Amino acid sequence: DTASMEKLVSLCKRRGFIYQSSEIYGGIGGFWDYGPLGAELKRNLREAWWRTMTRDREDVVGLDATIIMHPKIWEASGHTATFADLMRECTLTNKRVRADHVDPQSGTIIQFSGAQSPTGWKIARTIQVLIKNGEHIESFRKRVRQLIAQNAGDAAGKPEEIELLDETKLDTVEISVDFHPESGAALGPARPFNLMLKTYVGPTATEADVAYLRPETAQAIFAQFKNVLDSSRVKVPFGICQIGKAFRNEVTPKNFTFRSREFEQMELEFFIKPDEAIEIIHGAVAPWSESADLSEPQPNWGWEMWHRYWVDQRTKFYASIGLGTDVLDYYWQTNDDLAHYARACVDILFKFPFGTEELEGIAARGDFDLSQHQKHSGRPQEFFDDELKAAAAKLSDDQKEALIQKRLAAEASKTKGEPLPEPAVRAWFERLFKGNYVPHVIEPSAGLDRLALAVLSLAYNEVEKTDDKGKTETLTIMRFHPSIAPIKVGVFPLVKNKPEIVAKARSVYNALKKHLNCFYDETASIGRRYARQDEAGTPFGVTIDFDTLGEKGPELLDTVTVRERDSAAQHRVPIADLLPWLLARI
Ligand code: ATP
Repeated sequence: DTASMEKLVSLCKRRGFIYQSSEIYGGIGGFWDYGPLGAELKRNLREAWWRTMTRDREDVVGLDATIIMHPKIWEASGHTATFADLMRECTLTNKRVRADHVDPQSGTIIQFSGAQSPTGWKIARTIQVLIKNGEHIESFRKRVRQLIAQNAGDAAGKPEEIELLDETKLDTVEISVDFHPESGAALGPARPFNLMLKTYVGPTATEADVAYLRPETAQAIFAQFKNVLDSSRVKVPFGICQIGKAFRNEVTPKNFTFRSREFEQMELEFFIKPDEAIEIIHGAVAPWSESADLSEPQPNWGWEMWHRYWVDQRTKFYASIGLGTDVLDYYWQTNDDLAHYARACVDILFKFPFGTEELEGIAARGDFDLSQHQKHSGRPQEFFDDELKAAAAKLSDDQKEALIQKRLAAEASKTKGEPLPEPAVRAWFERLFKGNYVPHVIEPSAGLDRLALAVLSLAYNEVEKTDDKGKTETLTIMRFHPSIAPIKVGVFPLVKNKPEIVAKARSVYNALKKHLNCFYDETASIGRRYARQDEAGTPFGVTIDFDTLGEKGPELLDTVTVRERDSAAQHRVPIADLLPWLLARI
């Protein structure tokens, strides 16, 4: 809901997680900066992804490519021609909006956030409306109700109230509606608007020098596929992953960092054998079923198993950083949603305060991307598979012909895209029988900023605390999973005027900080210092007190109090055991 989103945005600014970019100049829409705590959080998430996707695996390697690439890359990928949103312009307000948010009948800009109804309309419990002219409020309320009645599925999804906001609160509207006071339809025609950000490379700045800031990191992986193949000891199946900035000139950036114009993606292209190659080598492709064991990849897996495997792997990754299946949802794209070359795509959704929205998409993309680059660059993007060649040599002509006929039948019954003509199918099999193919790909593609936002909104908790004098205050605790918390340990001398305690605390801090991100704090009461670290989401606090100096007896000498953020439980731990004690819990 909007209220909790507002609190989160305000905490992010107050504690230095996220600031508006260029704020001293009024900000710039769709751009956000990460402050000291945000930078650490993002780094931990990035590293967790990188470790899980490549370091922990033998079959994935990394890449770090440039943001600006040859413009032909975007022709081959289809972005130049089709990476566009429909946009309309309101002549009255000069505002641009995505046309899927425009009511086609009245021309009114209307956008619901919340659960997606079966008709594709987004339904919220509360609708907030920005309206230019008060006189039209009533007719507008009526119109919104009509639209909902026409488009909402069940009653549960219907809004309970329509709230009117004034224009000054525009940045907080969850659902905004722009309304023309005279006609109700001052919007220009819907026209495609390419989302790629343009720039010029070279000093002349002519049309010939136009280049684009990459709208996704994936294309660099495809463009470098052959180099990786030739320079490292990889064999299909294997993956190449990359983390980096991507840019999209989103028409309506919104929901804090959720839809930004500059953001970071974490993408894996996992290259697999075409199913026909599996059939030749193993006789058949492992069939998918709900009870299939996805824990260890098997040589006879086809694209469907690999796709399910990656959905499972990604789900495990989210669980490892505290996002369990209770806060996730899955949307399996239907045949209508899918691009013509895609075989399946599942969106992993997170229950954000503003609605359940996409965190990551995992697509089975066939051999579309590498084939496009093969076609546009004229360079073969094939893998030579000696195992396949040997297996194919053992097939009889009839067996080969049966495989070809099966594929021809599949092409003929295609519901999307052009069927491959017979000569092309035969030529493809001819290469395949010699061991050559363009690998197929499974693509888990996640947004780092969306992940950070998900983690921030899940961590946000408020607790009421009453002090000795009976005064109650609301405290914020950021309950990050310890593995991703920006600061792992706060180190506190109980008092700052006892040099032995301060010296001991500094030595504990100096020893720990080589291994963990620590924060040393000696100002204010110990309770205040705990509260500050609770707000930063620090899972452990270490206090050095008089007992540490052995003042209460030798058994407590060189021990410290460790306080846990979530339970407030306290443990007495010897300094010598402190690091392993903490590492075991982080
Ligand atoms: P959406 O439908 O929300 O625009 P998309 O389906 O276009 O997203 P992809 O092209 O599949 O997104 O990009 C992969 C991932 O990159 C998304 O799941 C998301 O996490 C992230 N991402 C895409 N666009 C943005 C954006 N404008 N701001 C932040 N993250 C984004």
